[in-house]
Amino acid sequence: MPWYSAKILFKHKTKNGEVKGLFEERMIVLNVDNESKLETIITDFANTYAEETGNCKFIELIDYYEMDCSGIFDNGQEIFSKMYSTNLTADKFTKSHYFDDRLNDCSKHNCVHSWYKHTENKYKCYYCRKTKQIRTKKNISAS
Ligand SMILES: [Zn+2]
Repeated sequence: MPWYSAKILFKHKTKNGEVKGLFEERMIVLNVDNESKLETIITDFANTYAEETGNCKFIELIDYYEMDCSGIFDNGQEIFSKMYSTNLTADKFTKSHYFDDRLNDCSKHNCVHSWYKHTENKYKCYYCRKTKQIRTKKNISAS
């Protein structure tokens, strides 16, 4: 049964409306035996995620991709690939395509940070560039 990765776009609502629209580009992997049902299955996953999150809306299935793997993921395993044909320079392409105008600190703009777990040791705020250390027994006793 082939594995697919899918890139899905969501729009999040903010708690107080102080920060402009927040979009999430999310990538998931799926093991699906019927390619003709793939888009429906991805859409169901996307709607479930939006429902469970409670503050976002599924906007669009951007693309999906059949992965070249047996389902056992290796380090460096490609989960999604999309080629872009453009006349832009690398600098202009990255600035326009990976544009990030989030605030440096949303708390200075009457917002409340909304933390999500980024790594085992770090939280990031959805609305700005702030991060904070996750307090674990290990790093509490070290400080
Ligand atoms: Zn923040």
